[in-house]
Amino acid sequence: MPSSPQELATLDQQHLWHPFTAMRQWCAPDHTPLMLVEGNGCTLRDQFGKEYLDGNASIWTNIHGHNHPVLNAAISAQLGKVAHTSFLGFTHEPAIRLAKELVDLLPGGKLTRAFFTDNGSTAIESAVRMALQYWKQNGSPQRDTLVAFDRAYHGDTLGAASLGGIPLFKGSGNDFGYRVITVPSLESLESLSAAEQARIAAVIIEPLIQGAAGMRLWPQGMLKALDGWCRQQDVFLILDEVMTGFGRTGKMFACEHEGVVPDFLCLAKGLTGGYLPLAATLTSERVFEGFLGEPHEGRTFFYGHSYAGSQLGCAAALASLQIFRDERVLEELSAKIARLGELMKGLNDARQCGMIAAMTIDSPDLTLGAKASLAARRHGLLTRPVANTVVLMPPLCVTLDELDRMVAALRAALEDIKAPA
Ligand code: PLP
Repeated sequence: MPSSPQELATLDQQHLWHPFTAMRQWCAPDHTPLMLVEGNGCTLRDQFGKEYLDGNASIWTNIHGHNHPVLNAAISAQLGKVAHTSFLGFTHEPAIRLAKELVDLLPGGKLTRAFFTDNGSTAIESAVRMALQYWKQNGSPQRDTLVAFDRAYHGDTLGAASLGGIPLFKGSGNDFGYRVITVPSLESLESLSAAEQARIAAVIIEPLIQGAAGMRLWPQGMLKALDGWCRQQDVFLILDEVMTGFGRTGKMFACEHEGVVPDFLCLAKGLTGGYLPLAATLTSERVFEGFLGEPHEGRTFFYGHSYAGSQLGCAAALASLQIFRDERVLEELSAKIARLGELMKGLNDARQCGMIAAMTIDSPDLTLGAKASLAARRHGLLTRPVANTVVLMPPLCVTLDELDRMVAALRAALEDIKAPA
């Protein structure tokens, strides 16, 4: 089997198909794929030994850094027992403990149940299916409609994509089956006709900030007001915290900033510290009880995935929560958030939500974001743009010095491509 970096790159170009990637350009003879071979903290090393700062936390997943000894040890210890067993009809200690720890993170005791899947899209899909099935079998079958927001991104499975408001990510362009109303704002939701409002099963939102839309911030107080509207109408509120969960916004969950506890909280990416695929949909006892019945009544939630509640994933997630406590991760964030804000000052349309920062290159040429990211690589920074928006979302363990270096690399990259920033 070939093992030189060049031979491996050639094999990649011959046999792989990468997500969200223009493959003609990827496979071009003059393109050398970046192969990441090692990591430590915020640093990643490529096949040639060059080091980079992980400025997008490995697609918004990594929380405590790469190669964290506590996470490594927890996964190894679990591996020494068993890696994976079915969660359909069986249970295991890591999932039981994790469910308890997760529901205890939210105040008020409203969320009591954890349903495990293995990625963000399926965490969303579970919530959507639960909401629709709940109303169908609990006396309100007319509630068959989901409300989502313009420019939303909730994942790629057909169910999750049907909620998306970014045409590029709709693929075939179909609406994939669910009845979805897309609104730009809370005000337009409020102004839907009474007949339409009566059909709403749930409203879904990325709280505080829409990620894939290019880090668009919601006005302060919007989430609280939306929650109030949902309570008044007795409509379920689904919060997609796939990106914002686990400290990204400065608190464990974004909904804490506005004192909101939703009916469904969807978690993925950072749940395992960014180590393994695991997702959770948290919900209330009310929803759970709506699915209880005798088998012949057909009230059961017939949905799930082979790797649901993976033992390794749950062990990693428990270790990640342990690190949050032991390393006082949230308490350490305020200085980093302040520094990130300082550093971004002066960049075009700079914005920030906790440890998430972004700026947008002011140009109709929408290739500049990608060019800036490529240039940043030369300066030792890995990041990935959303069109012309360049995002910095480092692991939470980032140091002040690393933040300085990340933004310096970003500025140098913008200079290199002469971006009007
Ligand atoms: N929801 C949000 C807000 C996301 O940012 C993403 C992914 O970027 C998803 C859902 C989908 O998660 P996954 O890629 O794990 O399916």
